Amino acid sequence: MSIIVYADKCTGCTLCVKSCAFNAIEMKPREGLPAGRQGTPRKLAVIDLDKCTLCGACIDACKKFGAIEIKTEKESSTDLSQFKGVWIFAEQREGKIQSVGYELLGEGRKLAQDLKTDLSAVLCGGEDIEEEVSQLFAYGADKVYLLHHNELKDYKSLPYTRAVAELLTKHKPEVFLLGATTMGRDLAARLAIRVGAGLTADCTSLGIDPDNKNLLQTRPAFGGNIMATIICPNNRPQMSTVRPKVFRKPDKQAGRTGELIKFNPAFTPEDLVVKLIEVIKDETSKVNLAEAEIIVSGGRGIGEAKNFKLIEDLAKILGGAVGASRATVDAGWISAHHQVGQTGKTVAPKLYIACGISGKIQHLVGMQSSATIVAINKDPDAPIFKVATYGIVGDLFEYVPLLTKKLQEIRG
Ligand SMILES: Cc1cc2nc3c(=O)[nH]c(=O)nc-3n(C[C@H](O)[C@H](O)[C@H](O)COP(=O)(O)OP(=O)(O)OC[C@H]3O[C@@H](n4cnc5c(N)ncnc54)[C@H](O)[C@@H]3O)c2cc1C
Repeated sequence: MSIIVYADKCTGCTLCVKSCAFNAIEMKPREGLPAGRQGTPRKLAVIDLDKCTLCGACIDACKKFGAIEIKTEKESSTDLSQFKGVWIFAEQREGKIQSVGYELLGEGRKLAQDLKTDLSAVLCGGEDIEEEVSQLFAYGADKVYLLHHNELKDYKSLPYTRAVAELLTKHKPEVFLLGATTMGRDLAARLAIRVGAGLTADCTSLGIDPDNKNLLQTRPAFGGNIMATIICPNNRPQMSTVRPKVFRKPDKQAGRTGELIKFNPAFTPEDLVVKLIEVIKDETSKVNLAEAEIIVSGGRGIGEAKNFKLIEDLAKILGGAVGASRATVDAGWISAHHQVGQTGKTVAPKLYIACGISGKIQHLVGMQSSATIVAINKDPDAPIFKVATYGIVGDLFEYVPLLTKKLQEIRG
């Protein structure tokens, strides 16, 4: 990006000088430059680029005359027709591709069909990662870009960003999807800056505009009260992150193959300044809500922290995980790893039992794709009943222990 002053529009009014908090603008004699507007022909605003932060305050101050503009080089130089293909980032941990990568392949296939193009996966890892490539073909990738290097064995922001940015710059995909996981969020933001792309975080649906082939990226906005569809018409690739379990994992096609393209990333010493000494697993994050097939969640209706025992007992007898509303997390009754919803985890288990949860939109966006939803709430008008498959209007302190007892009897 750069900033320019149009000599023919500058009136020498000094409004920009006053607006600049960094003392980056000075009025200087025009000397050979075109005369300015009437009345102030002698001096011209000159911006010291070493001091300028491109904050845009001078542009606002000069709105009336429009003499200052920030230019994005990309805007004028990006030839969109060079960008082809839908790509997904296949996140791996400890050498195993995470489910979100397969879910992105499922959605990516639909986009690739609409764009009449290929679907590719990017896989980074250490020496042993090549074993996982066949999985990506089986779940729908036409091509796999394999980046292996010891520095890519475990996720580290700098080498991953360097390697994937180099790949994006070389092969120019038009769409690049990543999981909205801790890793995906960190990587996507860095890549978007590095390659000058637009990025929409936490998308809940994706599509292709039939008229201009732009990616339509839909996500909740204003606290989940509206759904906003965002486009990036001027830059490529169009990048989105999507939370795990938002899209369905496609069916596996055993034996399906594709093209494997190996890419050797080159690192600079600056990319390798962070050394991974040891991985210490957070014991409290053992709850893998995203993968659980049954979740029993507690809300403010449980009254106090110790009553989570009722929820845990029911979850245990069902072989499920414990979820929670944000109200209970904020109250300190349970750790944030259990939170389901807009600012927690998105889940889609076979069975979701909501106990004493009202069903505010921010909770619903995180669990409404569950196959079967059972709600227990003493308020018959609670919004949770609108998404529930089965509803029990009653006191959870009566029904939750009753359910646990009955299941214990059935299971012996
Ligand atoms: C930007 C933003 C992000 C947010 N993100 C999230 C998120 O990720 N996840 C989330 O959950 N929330 C989120 N929230 C908060 C959300 O708006 C609600 O405040 C929260 O979900 C309410 O939690 P709750 O249903 O447990 O509590 P309440 O809304 O207080 O509901 C308690 C329910 O318990 C019922 N009840 C009470 N006693 C009993 C009983 N004995 N038996 C049966 N039922 C009983 C009541 O009838 C009531 O319906 C977010 C809010 C904002 C603004």
